[in-house]
Amino acid sequence: MFDSLSDRLDGVFKKLRGRGHLTEDNIKEALRDVRVALLEADVSLPVVKSFIASVKEKAVGVSVTKSVTPGQQMIKVVHDELVELMGAVNESLNLAAQPPAVVLMAGLQGSGKTTTTGKLAKRLAEREGKRVLVASLDVYRPAAMDQLRSVAEQAGVACLDASPDEKPQVIAQRALEAARKSGADVLFLDTAGRLHIDETLMDELVEIKSIANPVEILFVADSMTGQDAVNVAQSFNERLDVTGVVLTKTDGDARGGAALAIRHVTGKPIKFLGVSEKLDGIEPFHPDRVASRILG
Ligand code: GDP
Repeated sequence: MFDSLSDRLDGVFKKLRGRGHLTEDNIKEALRDVRVALLEADVSLPVVKSFIASVKEKAVGVSVTKSVTPGQQMIKVVHDELVELMGAVNESLNLAAQPPAVVLMAGLQGSGKTTTTGKLAKRLAEREGKRVLVASLDVYRPAAMDQLRSVAEQAGVACLDASPDEKPQVIAQRALEAARKSGADVLFLDTAGRLHIDETLMDELVEIKSIANPVEILFVADSMTGQDAVNVAQSFNERLDVTGVVLTKTDGDARGGAALAIRHVTGKPIKFLGVSEKLDGIEPFHPDRVASRILG
């Protein structure tokens, strides 16, 4: 992720390093280049504009202090602003609830919901010794139910038996009861997705939310879809008030625009990155580490 953005920004700072000190002119030129780099990374114009305005304000302050290392100073300003844009600190899963803590997984079809459910379930079971139950509410695609069962087996966690003949709301209720009965700490509800945002699906998700009372609602976004991922995240957030985002397929996303913009647009933190197809291919999202990676 961020390969070309990183290269581009490196070029900007190299140019600045050759200058004796920061002047209004070379700040202007650098910011023009940063702006192009962000747009090329598929960050939307309003987000880029607000980012550049903040960097400009701070960079002008730096120029006043007559810095002797203009490149370094600008890198620091851009770094801090990137961290700010992405949310400053890592926000981990909030499972503080009377068990079972319910985690609702939502997103478009193919975004990586089922895979991510398996990854998070495995992580919680292995690293934190949590008892996990997963349930598929995707009655529209029987293959999705089979896929979750297989993922749960690989993850070593329990999977609720469910049939495509049941209503998703009924499965959600049953899953809650099963989780309580078996003493599960965490219950993942893997919901159906569509190829596009769809009112029926949204209504169903809202109903499931009110039945299951989740402590986390994770929106799963395919990072390779760039600005679209951000727009879809916004729509889901408006209806569901999600608690966090998991950005998947970052191993295939060269641009990184969604990672940069989702927090700014939705106000919700990215909590994890999907970094491979494998069940251990998930990492907590640390804005500061990501910013450092971007800036090389
Ligand atoms: P769902 O329809 O939202 O449940 O999506 P799936 O979990 O079935 O994932 C769709 C495809 O994306 C599958 O082929 C997954 O293996 C793949 N996938 C999911 N997450 C990642 C990831 O982080 N990296 C890569 N490379 N592939 C992923």
